[in-house]
Order: sequence, then C-alpha cells, then structure tokens
Amino acid sequence: MMLDEHILSLFQSINDGVYILDFGRKILFWNKAAESITGFSASEVMGKSCSDNILRHIDMDGNSLCNSSCPMQVAINNKQIVEADVYLHHKEGYRLMVHVKGIPWYSNGVQVGAIELFYPVLFQQQKIKQDLVKMALIDPLTGVLNRRGFESLYYPRYLEMKMTKPFTGILFFDIDNFKQLNDTYGHECGDAVLKTVAQTFTHNIRTYDIITRWGGEEFVIILFVDNSLMIQSIADKLCSLIASAFIDVKGNTITFTASCGATLLKANENVTDAIHRADALMYKAKKDGKNQVCHDIM
Ligand code: GH3
Ligand code: MG
Ligand code: MG
Repeated sequence: MMLDEHILSLFQSINDGVYILDFGRKILFWNKAAESITGFSASEVMGKSCSDNILRHIDMDGNSLCNSSCPMQVAINNKQIVEADVYLHHKEGYRLMVHVKGIPWYSNGVQVGAIELFYPVLFQQQKIKQDLVKMALIDPLTGVLNRRGFESLYYPRYLEMKMTKPFTGILFFDIDNFKQLNDTYGHECGDAVLKTVAQTFTHNIRTYDIITRWGGEEFVIILFVDNSLMIQSIADKLCSLIASAFIDVKGNTITFTASCGATLLKANENVTDAIHRADALMYKAKKDGKNQVCHDIM
C-alpha cells in the first residue's frame, strides 16, 4: 500500500497516537505519539500484525478484543468508523485506558486497510483535575484571580519579579455607584460591567502583573514596575479607560466609572498592610468625588 508522505508527516506532528493497518492488519505506520503513549517504538511494531497481540487490547470486562471484536477489524469489514474505550497493554506491563477511533483507509478510492487514532482517557482525567484547580483559584464571572488565587500566586510572583522590577505598586479599584447600576438596569447588567472592567484591566497591563477580584465590585491590582512614578500613571490610565468603556443593554449605552487608591509596597512590608492602605486611599478618592485616583506616592 502506498502511503502519502505528506499525510504521514502530518500524523507525526499530532498528539494522538496513530497507526495504519493493511487488510491483513499488518502495521504499516506508527507515529511518535503512539510510541510515547504505548512505550513501543515504531521499529518494534512495524510489520507485525496487530492481531499478534502486541497491544493486547481488552474491553471493560477483560475480554480480549484482538481475535474477536477488534475495533480495527470492524472498521475494515464494515467500512465504517468505530469508536470505543479499550485497555491496551503498555510496554511497561500495565493496562492503559485509551479512546480509539478506527477509520477505513482508502487509496485512490479503493479501501486498503484502516487507520486508528487513539489517546489516553487518563489524560482527560488529569485535565479535569487541572480545570478544578483553576476553578478554585479563578473568579468564574470575570476570569481574573479570586482571593484564594491571589494568595497562591502573589508571593512566588513577587519573588520572581523583584529581581528585575524594583518597585511593587498596589491599586485598589471600586466601581462607583454600582448598587444604583444594579437597581436601575438589573443584576445581569451589573455582571456585564464587572466583566468589562476586568477585561479593561487584563488587556491594558502587563501579563506578569496580578489582577484579583477582591470582593463584589472591588479589584486589587499588583504592578511590578521600574520606577514608582509609573504606578500613578498606570492607575490614571486604567481609571480613564474604565470611564471611556461602555456596554449596550437593550439599545441603551451604559457607562460607568471607578475610584482607585494607589500606593507603593514599602521595604519589608506585608502586602496585606499595603492593600489596606490602598483601600483607605480609594475611600478618599470616593470622598473627593469618585472617578479618580488618590495616591500617596512621592
Ligand atoms: P460606591 O460608589 O460608594 O462604591 O457605591 P456602590 O453602590 O458601588 O457601593 P455599595 O457597596 O453600596 O454596593 C456594591 C454593590 O455591588 C452591592 C452588591 O449588590 C453589588 N454586587 C456585589 N457583587 C456583585 C455581583 O457579582 N454582581 C452584581 N451584579 N452585583 C454585585
Ligand atoms: Mg465596594
Ligand atoms: Mg462601589
């Protein structure tokens, strides 16, 4: 059977395991991902028949599939795509659950065998685990960190950043008249404003800075900067970007503003103390008329 080089090099580059069988179920191709998933190298399996029991697929009940209901045999015989979860034999001896897809393989319109794509189901379980961890650290509404996320990320990031950025700024933002906005346009509109404010932060500060939804309509931002004067100018920029953002609610243009307190983390100061100072400065910005930054940076 002729195998197209371009297609084979494409198969080499994907993360799924891929192997190709001819009618006699002889293995003609075995990609790199198949090697890493199964532990068997291409040279160990090429030319062998998949019914030689190399991988010794078994089903959920422990029945051998190789000589009776091999998904690849079904794909070849019935000329249809077959999907199944099976346990393969890893070279190191253990059983590994993989999701397999057997697809009839044609060359110039003539069926010449079948191709199998497979990936470990366990990898998916690990992804679910990672997603759960992420969910515990990230605010689902705005996509920025929640407080727990801040607590896990702050100190390692601070240690990493202080090598190159000597100043750490703390910004405390609170959306102005947010209760009134909720009462007038509804809670969903309030949620949309929270998302827009978080996006404004995300897209306009450096990726190494830290954005946290601190509480209801409050955000804390940690800035790692080269000089302390940048803290105030970034705070001013974010404040005016929020004031110029808007959302559309049923044809109405809704605008909103936020007040900000900005301060510099002192040498040997606990970040929580600096956040309290930024919070107090934010209250001063509210008292001074809202939609502004109040700072104590010399
Ligand atoms: P100020 O300008 O002084 O900050 O007034 P404010 O109305 O923004 O402040 P206040 O603390 O009185 O109200 C905050 C409101 O934020 C009240 C609460 O219902 C609302 N809120 C908190 N979390 C959420 C949320 O997740 N979604 C929505 N839509 N509203 C929220
Ligand atoms: Mg508030
Ligand atoms: Mg508020």
